Amino acid sequence: MQRRPVPRTTYYCSFCGKSQDQVERLIAGPNGVYVCNECVATFSKADQTPQKERGLRCSFCGKNQRQVEQMTGGPRGVTICSECIELCEEIIAEEMQNRAQQRATKEKPEE
Ligand SMILES: [Zn+2]
Ligand SMILES: [Zn+2]
Repeated sequence: MQRRPVPRTTYYCSFCGKSQDQVERLIAGPNGVYVCNECVATFSKADQTPQKERGLRCSFCGKNQRQVEQMTGGPRGVTICSECIELCEEIIAEEMQNRAQQRATKEKPEE
């Protein structure tokens, strides 16, 4: 009997199109939208220019433009609001910290 490797689904950032292997972290939203850490970093530094009201809804949390400070649009109609960008930044920062800690405490078993 041969054990086949389980086919792994590759996910792509809905904004820049990079695959999960090309970026440090890909954060999944609902409805199959993804944003990578690179896009989060870019969006968080972007100018806070209010976009024209176009009835956009955040692809991640579903809020509309009026409920959030800023909405960043990507290709294929995906959008992310400033609140979700902030949340993603927190997730990424936390994971980086965890990873650094794991590396530091690798010798000692966790309690
Ligand atoms: Zn991206
Ligand atoms: Zn949002």
